[in-house]
Amino acid sequence: MQHDDNLTRDRPTFVTHLECSATGERHAADEVHNLSRAGKPLLVRYDLAGVRQALTKEGLARRPPDFWRYRELLPVRRAEDVVSLGETMTPLVAMPRLAARHGCAEILVKDEGRLPTGSFKARGLALAVSMAKALGIRHMAMPTNGNAGAALAAYASRAGIKTTIFCPDDTPEVNVSEIDLQGARVYRVNGLIDDCGRIVGEGKARVGWFDVSTLKEPYRIEGKKTMGLELAEQLGWDVPDVIFYPTGGGTGLIGMWKAFAELEAIGFIGCKRPRMVAVQAAGCAPVVRAFDEGVEHASRWENATTIASGIRVPQAIGDFLILRAVRESGGFAMAVDDAAISSALKEAARWEGLLLCPEGAATYAALKQSLADGRVGRHERAVLFNCATGLKYPLPPITRTLDRTKPIDFAGL
Ligand SMILES: *Cc1c(COP(=O)(O)O)cnc(C)c1O
Repeated sequence: MQHDDNLTRDRPTFVTHLECSATGERHAADEVHNLSRAGKPLLVRYDLAGVRQALTKEGLARRPPDFWRYRELLPVRRAEDVVSLGETMTPLVAMPRLAARHGCAEILVKDEGRLPTGSFKARGLALAVSMAKALGIRHMAMPTNGNAGAALAAYASRAGIKTTIFCPDDTPEVNVSEIDLQGARVYRVNGLIDDCGRIVGEGKARVGWFDVSTLKEPYRIEGKKTMGLELAEQLGWDVPDVIFYPTGGGTGLIGMWKAFAELEAIGFIGCKRPRMVAVQAAGCAPVVRAFDEGVEHASRWENATTIASGIRVPQAIGDFLILRAVRESGGFAMAVDDAAISSALKEAARWEGLLLCPEGAATYAALKQSLADGRVGRHERAVLFNCATGLKYPLPPITRTLDRTKPIDFAGL
């Protein structure tokens, strides 16, 4: 079988313009942008009729298994601008024992922990850094709860771009270290991620760095979109009945929703959509509250706290896009508490050998609750997103020991 090389192959690309997600106003492609003139996230638009002509399912099947295989639906125009660390397609791992235990037709875990830097933030930052390289950006800055900063540091260093990163002071130790080791200047800040975001915004004018905060630049979402493209391809160009997504800034949920629309437009899938479920932690659930209240924007969640640090986002600039996708899909938003997250994490590890991250465990806890209260039917195929490897988080101490100098009670082991 002949393989295309996704990385070096020249790419006639199909980006036509960027569009304001709130007003629809057009902005030129191939220029440096943050938010739209209305102060809202920008979305990349493509000549989808052109993509439809250029791309076939068979052609795609011959390409290597990384997300650059979807290059016609990605914004990088020149192969030489691609910054890559080997973005493998992540597996859909079934949890058959837990599906049987809780009475669900099929539970599939999209295991994003296999990506470079151990989280799906690699998808977004590979694209954002490649585009920064294409546009000549020299210095990038971002607020992070850990995983995004790690991915930015890795890709930007690889591209020779300087990075300055701010994280809450209780960010997991491993994240702060990996960010630093991968060449960024990282600061712990006595505040939450939006407090860090404010510093990035203020420094923009003074230092001249590029703000690469969630949804404040147009390309991270294009990288996260590849989760939806990949998922549909892996399911034989079909979508699952329901997707549980651990929602912080919401890039992945919004990105997948965009992916499904683009796939329909190029004739790869039909009009069926999964119900999108935004999962948050009970200690930080602004999107759930807004969903329940039926409003379009989520107000800031005060005193946010949860062990699922990746979704400890008190306020999201793309709140209205998350809520729109969830509602259009016929899905819902729900919160699970830290105790439920911890027990879900243990259950998946013990029964299925899958060490989920707390955010991934939150989606499993949410699925169990939804099966119990009937919001998800027993005939349904559910996909959970495990967005990072469980190994990046503090793990519980194990205290059991054995003294080899004393007689061992083997029967009691
Ligand atoms: C960033 C992150 C999330 C939230 O992703 P968004 O698309 O920004 O909502 C969930 N889980 C983990 C592990 C993360 O790092």
